[in-house]
Amino acid sequence: MPADTTPMMRQYIAMKEDHPDCILFFRLGDFYEMFNEDAKLVSKELELTLTSRDRSKPEGERTPMCGVPYHSADAYIARLIAKGYKVAICEQMEDPATAKGLVDRDIIRIITPGTVIASSMLDEGRNNFICSIYLDERGAGLCFCDISTGEISVTSFHGGDALEHLQNELGRFSPREALLSEGASRNEALGAFLRDKLECRCENGGEERYRPETAGAAVKKQFQSGVSALPEGDSHAVQAVGGLLSYLYETQKTDLSHLSTLTYFTSGQFMELDLTARRNLELTETLRAKEKKGSLLWVLDKTRTAMGRRLIRTWMERPLLSPAAIHRRLGAVEALVNDPIAREEIILCLREITDLERLIGRIVYGTAGGRDLVALSGGLGRLPHLRDLLEGLSSPLLQSLREELDDLSDLRELIGRGIQDDPPFSVREGGFIRDGYDPEVDRLRDILVHGKDMVAAVEAREKERTGIKSLKVGYNKVFGYYIEVSKSYYDQVPETYIRKQTLVNCERYITQELKDLEHSILTAQDRITALEYELFCAIREETARRVGDIQRSAAAVAQVDVLTSFAAVAADRGYCRPEVDLSDVIEITEGRHPVVEQMLKGGLFVPNDTRMDAGENTVAILTGPNMAGKSTYMRQVALIVLMAQMGSFVPARYARIGIVDRVFTRIGASDDLSAGQSTFMVEMSEVAELLKNATSKSLLILDEIGRGTSTYDGMSIARAVLEYCADRKRLGAKTLFATHYHEITVLEGQIPGVKNYNIAAKKKKDDILFLRKIVRGGADQSYGIEVAKLAGVPDRVIRRAREILSELEQGGVSAPAAPAPSGESQMSLLDLGAGEVAERLRRVDVNTLTPIEAMNLIYELKQKL
Ligand code: ADP
Repeated sequence: MPADTTPMMRQYIAMKEDHPDCILFFRLGDFYEMFNEDAKLVSKELELTLTSRDRSKPEGERTPMCGVPYHSADAYIARLIAKGYKVAICEQMEDPATAKGLVDRDIIRIITPGTVIASSMLDEGRNNFICSIYLDERGAGLCFCDISTGEISVTSFHGGDALEHLQNELGRFSPREALLSEGASRNEALGAFLRDKLECRCENGGEERYRPETAGAAVKKQFQSGVSALPEGDSHAVQAVGGLLSYLYETQKTDLSHLSTLTYFTSGQFMELDLTARRNLELTETLRAKEKKGSLLWVLDKTRTAMGRRLIRTWMERPLLSPAAIHRRLGAVEALVNDPIAREEIILCLREITDLERLIGRIVYGTAGGRDLVALSGGLGRLPHLRDLLEGLSSPLLQSLREELDDLSDLRELIGRGIQDDPPFSVREGGFIRDGYDPEVDRLRDILVHGKDMVAAVEAREKERTGIKSLKVGYNKVFGYYIEVSKSYYDQVPETYIRKQTLVNCERYITQELKDLEHSILTAQDRITALEYELFCAIREETARRVGDIQRSAAAVAQVDVLTSFAAVAADRGYCRPEVDLSDVIEITEGRHPVVEQMLKGGLFVPNDTRMDAGENTVAILTGPNMAGKSTYMRQVALIVLMAQMGSFVPARYARIGIVDRVFTRIGASDDLSAGQSTFMVEMSEVAELLKNATSKSLLILDEIGRGTSTYDGMSIARAVLEYCADRKRLGAKTLFATHYHEITVLEGQIPGVKNYNIAAKKKKDDILFLRKIVRGGADQSYGIEVAKLAGVPDRVIRRAREILSELEQGGVSAPAAPAPSGESQMSLLDLGAGEVAERLRRVDVNTLTPIEAMNLIYELKQKL
């Protein structure tokens, strides 16, 4: 540090040394300033101007600096957080105007992607999770927390497959930030999963905070229930929670009492879905565009509150496994479907309920303003009406939620009495405490408004009392208010008057009363501001004390909202209530794909039936041309199962769903290609995972296993996988198996439990007509060329393909195709890169060619000419 460093810079540098991994926002008056490397970094990242302090110095010695106004700092911080940085906020802890010497400053909070609470930095429709992972050779503890809503839950896994469960839960919660124990940090696979697949910021949490004693003490201190909410002796769970708490205390430096209820969950409560299945089935976003539109969430989410919007996502990510719990939800949805009038009114009522969860979060945090309190009170104020609306609905779940809805009328009364309806944004500038709430505020306001009148009143009264006709009250900057008496009345001046000044014709006096009045008038504004703030803080604290009640009400509102949303969609789209039990049966009559159906509009979607069980119908082999609707059908079955287990009605005329423990998918090209693995390698590792983890209660969706390699290899793998799935001694899992290998259809009759289906298509002259109807039996043709034509492959290529196909069909796979006759309208293959092109074409299996592959092939061939 140079010898001439100012005290303030020394203060800055010391703080920066304590927080080397953060960008330090250093409060200087109306700005947050950054210096040195932080300044250079931030000016580059946020495109701000880089300036410098001490401009008198030569350029090389100046301190780089850049700043942002404090009132708009949130937006800048949000951008830095989004880029993965941590920001430490350093505030002035005393008023610079009255501070003696260097202003006291301190770090009041460290903001990281997983600990954001400002509403401007949060997506209201989804939770913002931070997670903590404790991992050692015996198992793993995994804790998730959303500090903006106060939700905190933990789970643990023991044994060899802990890492796999860990990844599945992480995929479900998609945390923004992960705090890792030493053991977890060392695990490269976990790190790569978090960073690359989930785009999650990772922080090494070190050793100390994860020690069982340290962690146990933190859990006992934070939760009334202490460690009793956790399975006895489960030190992994305790360590994961305790590690996270200590990180939160360290970064948030504030009250975290809204993290009041610790929930322990087990993977046995929810259907486990790995990241691949989650993404393939497009539950919350589409595979390619990563958008909500086109996902199942897009169809089902008609929620009206932010709390409901977050919860419906959670429910979709966690289908249930217990028929009783599912029936409870279905019963509630049914009651709401059957009473359209109540449903509409509930929807209207929900629309007016504010985000109670996040409001109470900010209130406990101490960052809430007057508007937040009014918004909270307004939201709570709708609850009695919601209770009334729910009263007539005969569903045990709705009735128990109704009882949870506590509008906290005493608290609302307090807020209503204390705070104006439309308070100003800032709580530091007064003007938001209601008249009549506090006598002192009223008196001070009175003084401000009536100050002049009060002075006039003193003048009139003193004139009368003393009989001095010329008595006047005046004001100047030196003495403030004074009483002026002209010479001729000197002898009538009362003794209590204190002489201050003698002029030629008059004298000026002050009195204690006048001084007091003057003091009141001059300081009223400052005092009102301070007092209003104090009163506000008291109301806010009183509200914060009710955090548990408010969270319970909020959770009930969220559930009512999601159930109503399910009901609204069910009624609108003609869904049915599924029967859910523990059988091995999946039976669907006239099932539809919820998303494709909606995309097609106009009733164009063709419904299809499904029957799967542990007997004759374990594996369904699905054949049919490209574009026939195979993958739509398979996904439709999986989505209907998932929807039923979420507690939603399903798009079908009738459905009976035996609980499925997991859905596995192996569909199409994976997004892992960028990670440098070949398509085939990815496909096979997904198959390996799925065969390893599936049980006889699982549902498997396998789309074109083996297509990434040569025909015979691929076919052999496909067949072996299928045999394994069907074999009850090995797996015996319900499987939908789409394939291009028509040869596989011979397995029906050879292996018990295997049935052939195809999706009907008809040839109409040279064109193809898709009937979209699933029928028993294998497909007779693959119609690859017709589909290529449909896709717009040029006529001359189509014509030539037909020639080659018929030659192949006559001469077998190895027969060389005769060259096309040369001529203007024909392509002359032999004239051009001859041998190579012909050879390439010979190797092509037209049966398995997709339109895109056909296009690519033509492109490739052209390159060779
Ligand atoms: P495949 O997997 O056999 O190549 P897809 O399942 O991708 O075919 O379906 C292709 C298109 O056909 C879908 O995008 C959809 O628009 C339409 N489709 C599929 N199934 C149906 C159906 N049951 N009713 C109407 N259209 C359908």
